Amino acid sequence: MSLDGAVERREGSPAGNGNGNGNGPVMAPPARPTYGDRRLRLNPNTEHKPERYDDVQSEFDPAIFSSLERHLPPSMLEVPRDAKVQFMKEILARYLPEGERNRVQRHKEYRHKLMLAYQPLHKELYNLHPSAFFVPSFLKAVNDNPEESFRNILSEPSPGIYTFAMLQPSFCELLLDEVENFEKWVNAVKFKIMRPNTMNKYGAVLDDFGLETMLNKLMEEFISPIARVFFPEVGGSTLDSHHGFVVEYGKDKDVELGFHVDDSEVTLNVCLGKDFSGGELFFRGVRCDKHVNTETQPEEILDYSHVPGQAVLHRGRHRHGARPTTSGHRINMLLWCRSSVFREMKKYQKDFSSWCGECQREKKERQRQSLAATKMAFLKGCGGSNI
Ligand SMILES: [Zn+2]
Repeated sequence: MSLDGAVERREGSPAGNGNGNGNGPVMAPPARPTYGDRRLRLNPNTEHKPERYDDVQSEFDPAIFSSLERHLPPSMLEVPRDAKVQFMKEILARYLPEGERNRVQRHKEYRHKLMLAYQPLHKELYNLHPSAFFVPSFLKAVNDNPEESFRNILSEPSPGIYTFAMLQPSFCELLLDEVENFEKWVNAVKFKIMRPNTMNKYGAVLDDFGLETMLNKLMEEFISPIARVFFPEVGGSTLDSHHGFVVEYGKDKDVELGFHVDDSEVTLNVCLGKDFSGGELFFRGVRCDKHVNTETQPEEILDYSHVPGQAVLHRGRHRHGARPTTSGHRINMLLWCRSSVFREMKKYQKDFSSWCGECQREKKERQRQSLAATKMAFLKGCGGSNI
């Protein structure tokens, strides 16, 4: 069994290409105005409120600019917005090879074409209306204090897997309706659409037909506050891009989903409906790249049955799969939340014992051996003094 991960077929998101992490000096190109020290900050300036860059024409998501702004050297924060944009574009360009830049460009054109041609059915879905989308308990928990109040509404059936009631039934219905409408349209006009990832043949990328802004807001305002508390060690505090899609299971659709990891730091998986049986989500522990195919420990086993409106939030590296949907039709919305800062940092690390179950086990074993060796040396010492 291979666990190469749910790698997207397309490289639509720039996440993973990094956006500078301050480990190396960022040199100013010659013959350009300089702004003092150009070295990026290693840790983001959380006091600084970044500008919005929605209007910036670039291969990168505007949120990446906002996120990167927090890493700018202090002298850069005061310069005109245009100069900041230019500076950040230069940094980002270094992380995106030309081939990939072309792919990103082609995907942008594809999305543009799709959005021009497709007429949304429920316009109210395309802007985030928290009270219409979310159940009151979820809304209250996020608005109050995610750490305390969130613990009151969630269950943690296995370490690192959080489940909670999230979406209003009426929202689920509207979204199902919109997806159905989109698919009917796709079939009618024979538009060749890109599927959500390499594993799902059915389903649709919500970001591609106009829901990107809404989903980005959902991530920034509702998932980030939770991820910051529960997943800080995998980039939960620096989520800056997402991949939002629906997957469909049942007769004439995908039936099941093999064991895999997601191309995300944090995954939100919400069941939208409809009536179905089977389709349980099974989890088998969190693993880094190196340990992705290692054995599962008994305490890492969890099977979860989907309930419409109910969300599951877990690390992207939490190995999982979906059992066959044996009857009916099941549709889930997935939001793969990513952090370009975390991905960049990860390149320089080898030990992931703060989240990888196997790194953790190895570390404990090293500590046990070193303790045993110390004990042995101590006992030998004692033995010696008795002679
Ligand atoms: Zn590991």
